[in-house]
Amino acid sequence: MAVTFRENLRTKIVATIGPATAAPGMLESLLETGTDVCRLNFSHGERSWHEAALKRIRAWSAEHNRPVAVLGDLCGPKIRLNTVCGGQATINPGDQVRFARGEDECVSNRLTVTYRRFVDEVEVGHRVYIDDGLIRMLVIDRSDDELVCTCTVGGPLSTRKGVNLPDTRLSVPALTEKDHEDALWAVQNGFDFIALSFARRPSDLKQLRKLVDGHGDHTAIIVKIEKVEALEHIGELVEQSDGVMVARGDLGVEMDVWQVPLLQKGLTRRCRDAGKPVIIATQMLQSMISAPMPTRAEVSDVANAILDGVDAVMLSAETATGRYPSAAVEVMRRVAEVTEAYRTEATRGDVTVLSPIGDGCVSAIAEAAAKAAVHLGARAIAAWTTSGETVRMVARYRLPIPVIGLTNDERVYRRMNLLHGVVPMLADPPAGHGDLNTLMNEKLKAAGFVSRGDVIVLVDSTQPTVRGTTDTLRIHRVS
Ligand code: ATP
Ligand code: MG
Ligand code: MG
Repeated sequence: MAVTFRENLRTKIVATIGPATAAPGMLESLLETGTDVCRLNFSHGERSWHEAALKRIRAWSAEHNRPVAVLGDLCGPKIRLNTVCGGQATINPGDQVRFARGEDECVSNRLTVTYRRFVDEVEVGHRVYIDDGLIRMLVIDRSDDELVCTCTVGGPLSTRKGVNLPDTRLSVPALTEKDHEDALWAVQNGFDFIALSFARRPSDLKQLRKLVDGHGDHTAIIVKIEKVEALEHIGELVEQSDGVMVARGDLGVEMDVWQVPLLQKGLTRRCRDAGKPVIIATQMLQSMISAPMPTRAEVSDVANAILDGVDAVMLSAETATGRYPSAAVEVMRRVAEVTEAYRTEATRGDVTVLSPIGDGCVSAIAEAAAKAAVHLGARAIAAWTTSGETVRMVARYRLPIPVIGLTNDERVYRRMNLLHGVVPMLADPPAGHGDLNTLMNEKLKAAGFVSRGDVIVLVDSTQPTVRGTTDTLRIHRVS
């Protein structure tokens, strides 16, 4: 079957799969509408549920010859309230609330949480937030077996609500037992990405890397930025990961929410400079959970992320539990179409000068390719890649033309689908330069993507099956 190019869309769409897409045809319609990466959140749903969703995604992808990547999102060490007695309790500003050791049921003035060392590690003066910061408390006293807090913002408490501690450095391990099991299951089932929630330090990432690499092929790791501590190590975290998710949900609770937009912009830029994909997540089209159209502010949020040159925008509850999952993807597509067209006009002829990466060989060729493409008005840049690195280096330039990422590795093929402007394609390694010309002629012409006389800039290697050997830049005129 012919490859279909969505050539006008360079921003990728990540959609969270959940109960809303369980009905027959719904998941498929989400993919049809333009989902590039499916996110399965291991914080919710049973293993068998995720397994069934994975099967459906892979089946659709095979049938339609489209490279859909699958991302498994680990729960991470999220602290939650234990069962609330009677299902719900209300606390009011000024109330004294005690956090006790143990796993007793929570009552309105005496709570327990899922983290054993809570009472030992939270100190007087620290803030305790519940349910995404809707309920707020301050610790005013601490004894051997309880913390005493005063409520500053009140509200209803209910079972398993999340607890955030913006001031506390917890000794909780980065990966829980459940995370271990989920990560291994994801590796064994060929997930393309694993997302590390609540990452704090590079050692958290190393721990997951060790676990994942010990059990199979290199599975790409996306580090979720949602803790203030992570920001202190941001350079290393970006460097050592395969991509970044700006997880604005918990981040907006762990730090002042008005800091988040600038942080998002800074991270977007940092990731682009480092050649790592960046995903903007949470509440992008929040109102579409229950309405068929988004708010003006939501559309602006998506458009601004696209103007900043993010790799991907993400939908969470909009597609997982919302009433209009496909419509939400459709809105993102529309915003991308219009905003990217504007960006093409505004940046025509610009090639940003970026710093060298690693020994600089691949990034130098990528920069030369970007310049040549603009200079010649090329129709596309096509790059042969064994690991995906060469294509990531070219994608850094955020050019208005597509980057055709050619590889013979199916994992790399799917993983490239998260990258800005990249159209992944599977092919056998070219036997020589002439072979790549023929390949491009055939594949791109068959897809109605180029026609005779068009210029394509080619990036490849004199040893295409050996990693890290990209050494060639050529100009090809389609015959
Ligand atoms: P995170 O902090 O990791 O984003 P979340 O609780 O905000 O976790 P999302 O993945 O953002 O979860 O999804 C939004 C909502 O959709 C969740 O709160 C949950 O109610 C629902 N949901 C998501 N995935 C599933 C699933 N597989 N099964 C059941 N409900 C789900
Ligand atoms: Mg999470
Ligand atoms: Mg969320």
